[in-house]
Amino acid sequence: MSYHLCNIYPSLSLTDSLCPYIIWSDNLNKNRYLLKKTGYSGKGLNLNACSGQKQNMEASLTARDRVGIQDFVLLDAYTSESAFLDNLRKRFHENLIYTYIGTLLVSVNPYKELDIYSKKQMDIYMGVNFFELPPHIFALADNVFRTMLFEFNNHFILISGESGAGKTEASKKILQFYAVSCRSTRLLNNVRDRLLLSNPVLEAFGNAKTLKNDNSSRFGKYMDIQFDYQGGAVGGHILSYLLEKSRVVHQNHGERNFHIFYQLVEGGEEDLLRWLGLERNCQHYSYLVQGGCAKVSSINDKNDWKTVQKALSVIELSKSDIEYLFGIIASVLHLGNIKFEADVRGYATLSNNQEMHWLLGIPAQVINHVFSPFSVDHAVYARDALAKAIYDRTFNWLVNKINESLANKDSSRKTVIGLLDIYGFEVFSVNSFEQFCINHCNEKLQQLFIELTLKSEQEEYEMEGIEWEPVPYFNNKIICDLVEEKHRGIISLLDEECLRPGEATDLTFLEKMEEKIGGHPHFVTHKLADQKTRKTLQRGDFRLLHYAGEVTYCVVGFLDKNNDLLYRSGKEVMQQSKNPIIKHCFPSTEPDSKKRPETVVTQFKSSLVGLTEILMSKEPWYVRCIKPNEAKQPGRFDDVLVRHQVKYLGLMEHLRVRRAGFAYRRKYEIFLQRYKPLCPDTWPNWKGTAAEGVQRLIKHLGYKRDEYKLGRTKIFIRHPRTLFATEDAFQD
Ligand code: ATP
Ligand code: MG
Repeated sequence: MSYHLCNIYPSLSLTDSLCPYIIWSDNLNKNRYLLKKTGYSGKGLNLNACSGQKQNMEASLTARDRVGIQDFVLLDAYTSESAFLDNLRKRFHENLIYTYIGTLLVSVNPYKELDIYSKKQMDIYMGVNFFELPPHIFALADNVFRTMLFEFNNHFILISGESGAGKTEASKKILQFYAVSCRSTRLLNNVRDRLLLSNPVLEAFGNAKTLKNDNSSRFGKYMDIQFDYQGGAVGGHILSYLLEKSRVVHQNHGERNFHIFYQLVEGGEEDLLRWLGLERNCQHYSYLVQGGCAKVSSINDKNDWKTVQKALSVIELSKSDIEYLFGIIASVLHLGNIKFEADVRGYATLSNNQEMHWLLGIPAQVINHVFSPFSVDHAVYARDALAKAIYDRTFNWLVNKINESLANKDSSRKTVIGLLDIYGFEVFSVNSFEQFCINHCNEKLQQLFIELTLKSEQEEYEMEGIEWEPVPYFNNKIICDLVEEKHRGIISLLDEECLRPGEATDLTFLEKMEEKIGGHPHFVTHKLADQKTRKTLQRGDFRLLHYAGEVTYCVVGFLDKNNDLLYRSGKEVMQQSKNPIIKHCFPSTEPDSKKRPETVVTQFKSSLVGLTEILMSKEPWYVRCIKPNEAKQPGRFDDVLVRHQVKYLGLMEHLRVRRAGFAYRRKYEIFLQRYKPLCPDTWPNWKGTAAEGVQRLIKHLGYKRDEYKLGRTKIFIRHPRTLFATEDAFQD
């Protein structure tokens, strides 16, 4: 058997830096990796002490110089941002896009296909201790999976980073890994396929090309994968958050509408297009051409259409469901092409559009009712509002359909791994209500990260009575409060203005903010700014200092988008539709229209509260994605851009807490329960307290004093290797 050197740890502990560990891998026998402590004399490794081929220490160290170090926690004496950046850059140029900070995974978007996601790679990572192989998204996925099985509890993986950093790709890789690694039976394979294929469907309907990302998620997605106690994927559930529906009727220059429209027009079969009354020409549809880039070289709409068709059948959409669904998509395109003319009284009349009438299953004279008696401008507004509502509700219908097909009918206890992949932080030259919601969502997730890592970690040491030198960090709660505080937060002020129809305008909203929160250090407007800053702001702008940087928002459209008015006539007309999906999406039992519906931002705020609650009840894991350059190019590592992300993602603070802290902690009861067979005193039954049992156990195992600390309710272990050794002993 030949071994290959897969990793050198110069020091696994922070104190004994002269004792390298070396990891050998035979890569064939995936379960037996060798972790050997070497006798390092200061000049070279005593490789005879290791298994495997003899290697030259110098060559290995040169390799290390080249490829950097795979866990930032091990960067000896380096806690500077520059050293952090050097390591990330070094690895990036070697196509090593993953690096750990303890169990947190940092991922840098390579912007090119790497041969690291094959089935063979998955096999290598399955069932192997976290730190024994080079960092990988599969290692994280595998570790989460095994922890869930051992401890029989729920977990979530929070994937964050700005738009284009690689969140969606990471979440797909994790799902693909589970699809291969989880237990397989014919029945389970059905669930697996549906879980996998829900992705292309939701991406087609919920992703679009933006200036930042050719496949940008325009909705937030939280997906639970449910496992039985043997690790079989038995079901799933998806929650979607605030789709950017304004995109249906308007796209900025260089951007597109949702992929599905182009896929249908480019890839739809001749018969289908004829039936839908569509031409095979995106240029023909006003809702598809505003960004001036219907065709994108990186996107193959024709092929994607085929993938989506296959996926739709796997997630059990019936043939007629699919027909009705594309009837709706086509009718939105027809709707966008409706032209209005003023009649003699100045009221809008619309050009005839037979296809739309029958696709929506609504007679022409009834549809006309939606737009009358309005002025032309007003009618265009009502038309766009209707198109947005139809698309948005159909999207939610689709998510529900997918959920039905993923539902697990068996009531036995399950554990879940949740995957959170939302739209990333984004800054354009003009930012509107949509960016305000998206960026606030990211702000909230950053707050959750801070709460769960930096804050609670330090609080836990204190609570457990562990000696600790506090690590300072920037807490973005101040910005979250600025946006969502009751009565004086931006959301409250916006809602207040929305309650004054006819009187309030976007500008009165701006004035109200200036009056109420004018002195806030994270808020500025043209009027409030000093001379220098004023030059960078327009009169209708307000600027927020987000955790991830400054964003200038243009207030135009805020009230309107937040009110999200759909004329009652529009709803009533839709209720008469013969298309069952539309009928379902516009139920006649809609909440009483006299009662004010919640505004968009308030609904979003409460859905984020719900999401936080879901996440807080689970064990967290993190993937922090970094975008190496703005040009979407491979091989380009823009130091300024990356440094900025390292800063705002809080990676340095996280590293400091990790380096000074403990990688692993468990309640005495859980630790004892698992490892008590390793000590004759504690096996099979320990009569004393769990804490005493753990003390007895670790004494027997020979833990050294600096390797662990005993808190009030938990044992804290400094480095994973200590635990590996225990786990290995347990497995043997
Ligand atoms: P958004 O917030 O806009 O949805 P995102 O963080 O989800 O952005 P992705 O869509 O995952 O970004 O990634 C953007 C693009 O970067 C992908 O379409 C792909 O081309 C490339 N990319 C990301 N991750 C990888 C990877 N691991 N390997 C190869 N290419 C990648
Ligand atoms: Mg995405």
